[in-house]
Amino acid sequence: MIDLHLHTTASDGVLTPSELVEMAVERGMEAIAITDHDTIDGIVEGRERANKLGIDFVAGVELSSQWKGREVHILGYFLDIEDSVLLGELEELKKARDERNTRILEKLEKVGIYIGIDEVVEEAGGNIISRAHMANIIIRKGYAKDKKEVFQDLLGIDGIAYEPKGDLSPERAVEIIVKNGGIASLAHPKYISNNPDIVRDLGSKLKLAGLEAIEVYYSNMYIRDVLKFKKLAKSMKLVATGGSDYHGSNKALIEIGDGNVPYSVYKELKALKSNRK
Ligand code: AMP
Ligand code: MN
Ligand code: MN
Ligand code: MN
Repeated sequence: MIDLHLHTTASDGVLTPSELVEMAVERGMEAIAITDHDTIDGIVEGRERANKLGIDFVAGVELSSQWKGREVHILGYFLDIEDSVLLGELEELKKARDERNTRILEKLEKVGIYIGIDEVVEEAGGNIISRAHMANIIIRKGYAKDKKEVFQDLLGIDGIAYEPKGDLSPERAVEIIVKNGGIASLAHPKYISNNPDIVRDLGSKLKLAGLEAIEVYYSNMYIRDVLKFKKLAKSMKLVATGGSDYHGSNKALIEIGDGNVPYSVYKELKALKSNRK
């Protein structure tokens, strides 16, 4: 088994890269990818630990983009983390994210929820500050009872404090990854739409930008969803990738390995990457 969608403390996961790799080994994973939101800060540490423990490691990322009022996430695999162009792009994304974060805190304040940026920075630990961190503080301070309420009423796309992160298009997100030499995969298509025609519409545009894969195996997905997106992947000639989207307690009820991604997915991805060179 493998898991190609994992978050660490570099973004909004709760395990450090080393702890994550150790947990993955414990859970019997043979290959993993760290895919933090908009950052590769966890890669060096994760790779080092993975090499020591003898587990295959893929340098990844999960970029946030905006499409027709929805959030579309693009996964990148086999990245060159020393590429200064990529580092520059990620720096821009971080800036847009930080500006968005300020706007969210202002909107929260307007409805009587007072959270300082310092608190959020401390909660985040790393460079990337996410709504997941804000949600933890909102609950801890007693403004809401659980994450579901926080995202439904406040921080989610229909919440009163929602703010998009800049205006990166999914095409650009794919291009950033492809230009770096990585493989781009459309993350958790069920969050884009349950209607495969909408996903197909987006997917075919993204293929022109260099998209080569789509996340078919995923935690919290019914067998019928997996089958639906597997069929779509096949008809669009996209490689089926997958992973759990593990965040530790920052996203409850998901464990490393959930999604049951077969090892063959890793082999297919590696073949794509080596054919590229
Ligand atoms: P951001 O990257 O700042 O836009 O924050 C999005 C993060 O918030 C996601 O990656 C999840 O970790 C978390 N999140 C989003 N929606 C929910 C939800 N409904 N319940 C729990 N966590 C969520
Ligand atoms: Mn997250
Ligand atoms: Mn995502
Ligand atoms: Mn994710």
